[in-house]
Amino acid sequence: MSSDLQFTVEPNTQPASDDQRADILANPGFGQYFSDHMAIATWTKNDGWHDARITAFGPLELSPATSVFHYAQTIFEGMKAYRHPDDSIHMFRPEANAARFAKSARRLALPELPESAFLDSIKALVELDQAWVPTGGETSLYLRPFMFGSDPFLGVRPSAQVTYCAIASPAGSYFSGGVKPVRIWLSEEYTRAAPGGTGAAKTGGNYAASLLAQAEAIENGCDQVAFLDAIEKKWVEELGGMNLYFVLDDNSVVTPELSGTILEGVTRDSILKLVTDLGHPVTERKISVDEWREGAASGRIREVFACGTAAVITPVASLKWKDGEVQVADGNGGPVTAAIRSALLDLQYGRTEDPHNWMTKVC
Ligand SMILES: *Cc1c(COP(=O)(O)O)cnc(C)c1O
Repeated sequence: MSSDLQFTVEPNTQPASDDQRADILANPGFGQYFSDHMAIATWTKNDGWHDARITAFGPLELSPATSVFHYAQTIFEGMKAYRHPDDSIHMFRPEANAARFAKSARRLALPELPESAFLDSIKALVELDQAWVPTGGETSLYLRPFMFGSDPFLGVRPSAQVTYCAIASPAGSYFSGGVKPVRIWLSEEYTRAAPGGTGAAKTGGNYAASLLAQAEAIENGCDQVAFLDAIEKKWVEELGGMNLYFVLDDNSVVTPELSGTILEGVTRDSILKLVTDLGHPVTERKISVDEWREGAASGRIREVFACGTAAVITPVASLKWKDGEVQVADGNGGPVTAAIRSALLDLQYGRTEDPHNWMTKVC
């Protein structure tokens, strides 16, 4: 059912010129440049969702008292639009992002945006800004829908006014010099999410909580941080913004089970099905950090990789902690990781059949 909320289009009267856009698309990086338009809608306690528009990308004017600045009532999504060989533009499982956005909204006491309105807004934005979807390599148009409490009020309660917004940013190949395996720092002091908390919601606060541990990872010569469960500090959960997978020496594949504190990645979920298609037994279960350390040392664990929309699939070279470091195999990633990565990218970029009906054509 399509929702009553219609996003009316107000074209940007001063879009980037073809030359300006071509310059940006030649080397877009990640998250630095934005397309000509954005989607925006307002919710109020009295009127529900209204004033939904696709309009010129630009600054929001907000009171310093706006509740999100003080109490972090906010959620977001991350998804991509891909250009296929015939120049048509497609999204990967957008309905999964719509459903997760609604679930995150519930946890943060934000109003749910009807999933059909979420999808309509994204499709309308991508269609209008289709010239911003780059061509070639592993490039895409990264989409960032988000919602926040926009009530100019310092009282602590769910915001009586909420803003939904979606912006689009052209993204170059995440790994310009080919896929580079990452070193992972084990955070033994800080945790990212506790039972009953917000770990399973896509909310800025989880990222804020991860940044100091991420800084510690960088200080220790690592690229990313891995978090353990908050109670026993024993079970591997995920990275700051990516889920983890392990490939064992019997060719089976394992990922930490959803515990209520792990973010359920769309990539993680898709890989569960893709590895089955590729003929590997796959299980979701608890994995202790000792199993990781000992398995990498003994060869029982052959490959480790991280996954998420932004970087897709990244091999893990090693796990480092304050008293040591263990490399995974030769530290260069392995064939199972490479096969899963190709299978996923081939699907997203329209180079292969789509047996699970995961792709949605936008235009
Ligand atoms: C977004 C996110 C992921 C990856 O989810 P995808 O849907 O695969 O992009 C993993 N962990 C955290 C904490 C995240 O915020």
